[in-house]
Amino acid sequence: MREAIVIGGGITGLAAAWQLRGTADVTVLESERRIGGKLHTATIGGTPVDTGAESIMALRPEAVELAQEVGLGPDLCDPATAPTTVWTDDALRPMPAGHVLGIPTEPRALAGTGLLSDEGLERLCQEESRQSAPLPRDADISVAAYLRDRIGQEAVDRLVEPMLGGVYAGRADQLSLRSAMPRLAAVAEHGGSLVGALRRVRAAGAPKAAAVQGVRGGTGRLPLAVARSCGARILTGTRADELQRTASGRWRVRALTADGPLVMEADAVILALPAFAAAELLRGHSPAAHEELGLIEHAGSAVVTMAFDRSRASFLPDGNGFLVPPADGRTIKAASFLTNKWGWLRESAPGSFVLRVSIGRAGEEARLDVPDRHLIRTAISELHLAAGRMGEPTAARVTRWDRALPQYGVGHADRVARIREAVAKLPGIDVCGAAYEGVGVAACVATGRKAARRVFEG
Ligand SMILES: Cc1cc2nc3c(=O)[nH]c(=O)nc-3n(C[C@H](O)[C@H](O)[C@H](O)COP(=O)(O)OP(=O)(O)OC[C@H]3O[C@@H](n4cnc5c(N)ncnc54)[C@H](O)[C@@H]3O)c2cc1C
Repeated sequence: MREAIVIGGGITGLAAAWQLRGTADVTVLESERRIGGKLHTATIGGTPVDTGAESIMALRPEAVELAQEVGLGPDLCDPATAPTTVWTDDALRPMPAGHVLGIPTEPRALAGTGLLSDEGLERLCQEESRQSAPLPRDADISVAAYLRDRIGQEAVDRLVEPMLGGVYAGRADQLSLRSAMPRLAAVAEHGGSLVGALRRVRAAGAPKAAAVQGVRGGTGRLPLAVARSCGARILTGTRADELQRTASGRWRVRALTADGPLVMEADAVILALPAFAAAELLRGHSPAAHEELGLIEHAGSAVVTMAFDRSRASFLPDGNGFLVPPADGRTIKAASFLTNKWGWLRESAPGSFVLRVSIGRAGEEARLDVPDRHLIRTAISELHLAAGRMGEPTAARVTRWDRALPQYGVGHADRVARIREAVAKLPGIDVCGAAYEGVGVAACVATGRKAARRVFEG
């Protein structure tokens, strides 16, 4: 049987291994002692809690399908329904229903929410009477540069930035419209009113189900279930550090383990790695891929997870949590009230209230450069200011995600095309993961499975 090595045991690499099951003898190499990468469920305050990704996109099929294929279908669950809420100007302000990526499809519904000033709201409302030129098909531009002229700077700052901070840990003036907001870019190509077009798109395809789903017991169960079902040999604590082409055209991987180096060969190697790690392994084989991968920047973040004793808490907030615009100058960028959001968590720990607070956007790395106890104090004090005084948590844990989220800068799609072109010249090698066509779990699963289908074709 053909042999394949998948380097990286996050959800992308495991999806690739799953795709290859039965058709190749697969070994997955993972440098950490656990698999799953940014999907991880830990026990905090006696309760299973996701410390990385907490939900999977349900508007696109790939992650949900994979969960079903590995037997987690019955455990998929919807979050509680609650409006997106923004903490700005010292109050929690719910966004009216019907926004697309923070852009309201019914701007007048913002009146009275305090999310925009009267001038900002008027500016946004005028958008519908303007006829914007279409975005040329091959052009790219930053999200802010595109939206500023249409919905106004204030709407970008207070409505769109909080969303981008949540998904990309990125900023509107840096992120590519085409790569970070492809749905918006598709609409922009038609010109005319953006708000009007988004309203029509929404009306035509109004989702009947939740946009995201979780997994009962934690989304971190997904990579574990895939690993169990895929039939691959999985080696943790094994860091690939060198790739060599053999005389017979196979690939040799050298890896470092606690017991010393390990060398193995295969017909194909899939690099399911962050861009900087893939860049290192490709250094001697494709200078172009090495350079382009190395140019993709990454933002780090930290998640502070806290459990409160319900019987002792002075106050418990409603809703699913909130987002924070960077312009407000706060340290935290989001809070997720997990107990309110996920029914399974409420049932499994009825005496606790569990939440998580996220800190860290691109360019704000210095905020993370403090001890854990400082991050916890900051999270508690800003949480109290935003939502109300809850008292002290009974358990708190900081999870640091260094260089975790690739930043899709302007021109990212072209860079990815150049990387793919360079990698295609290396028969038996493919690359996949969050660095390419989407950072969400569903996009990662899609790239992993696609790489597995492609890698033996060359
Ligand atoms: C805090 C946070 C919250 C998020 N929330 C969501 C969410 O709710 N929904 C969503 O859809 N997405 C979310 N994301 C994004 C999503 O989780 C990630 O983009 C996705 O999980 C990345 O998967 P991956 O397998 O490509 O990469 P990773 O998970 O990074 O996996 C790559 C693996 O490769 C290993 N590795 C690195 N170098 C080597 C080497 N040389 N040899 C062997 N192994 C190596 C790493 O240890 C790692 O395990 C979140 C991300 C973060 C950081």
